Amino acid sequence: MKNGILAIALEKGLSGEGLSRDEALEFTALPDSRVYDMLSVTGRVVRTHKGMEVNLCAIVNAKSGLCKEDCSFCAQSVKYSTGVKEYPFLQGEAIVNAAKEAGKNHAREFSIVASGSRIEKESDIKILSDAIESMKEEAGVERCASLGMIGATALKKLKDSGLQSYHHNLETSRAFFPNICTTHNYDDDVNVVKTAKSLGLHVCSGGIFGLGETWQDRASLAMLLRELDVDSVPINFLNPRPGTPLADFKNLTPVTCLKIIALFRLMLPLKDIVVCGGRQVNLRGLQALIFAAGANGMMIGNYLTTPGANPEDDRQMLADLGLSPKGL
Ligand code: SF4
Repeated sequence: MKNGILAIALEKGLSGEGLSRDEALEFTALPDSRVYDMLSVTGRVVRTHKGMEVNLCAIVNAKSGLCKEDCSFCAQSVKYSTGVKEYPFLQGEAIVNAAKEAGKNHAREFSIVASGSRIEKESDIKILSDAIESMKEEAGVERCASLGMIGATALKKLKDSGLQSYHHNLETSRAFFPNICTTHNYDDDVNVVKTAKSLGLHVCSGGIFGLGETWQDRASLAMLLRELDVDSVPINFLNPRPGTPLADFKNLTPVTCLKIIALFRLMLPLKDIVVCGGRQVNLRGLQALIFAAGANGMMIGNYLTTPGANPEDDRQMLADLGLSPKGL
């Protein structure tokens, strides 16, 4: 019977239909000793739909710390004493220079990320619009932003300046969300995704795993992202930050991380699945297997508050796997 789910996963993955929630849960319930069977399925599905090219993305933390929200995994909340660097919006030139650097490292997409639940000041929107326009002329990368619960008017303004993608994570399932954030509602986040979709932006929305959520929570998030028809799904793994409520939390194994990637690939077989924060500390020596588990994208360079891998090492890993960065 357990071999049955592997065959179903292969068929529904290759056809693009994707697994149902229950089927995905049956797949991820296979014992860790079957991980190579699982990866043989997801590896075929991802190569069939995404070929041998990998989307690389990079970010700049354009405004750090000082966030009034209380996301329990995040070092940037004012509620926790984490020692994270705090600074208001960077100057546009610094943002554009970071985008150029990312382009040189073969990032296809570059995201301007700002802490906080929303961008309120007109002056901040102006900095962003100008930076996006300069990126368009000078940086040679796709232009993305992650600015929290932005309203439709401001987002449209940024789109008119040349913004192509908007990133906004739902983080986890609706049922588990109150365990990790009490300062805003899940629907506030869902509405941001809907607004970005309605404006015709490429929408990147996923979550962070290893917060204590169950496999049911992970599958529920995947189902909702499928219903919202997001274009790409970033997957982050908790890298516990000192000073946060989850500072001592550690419940992911490298194989669990691979199974999480597999679940998203099999429930959203045609979408981009991008592995982001927490890759090195959680996957350790199994990092290269993310591309067999179903990822077709990876964040390079530094994360928001933690250092990433050397871009040269990541490029070498791709070359060793016979994969290449996707161009513009
Ligand atoms: S995840 Fe975003 S909204 Fe939540 S505390 Fe961190 S910066 Fe604020």
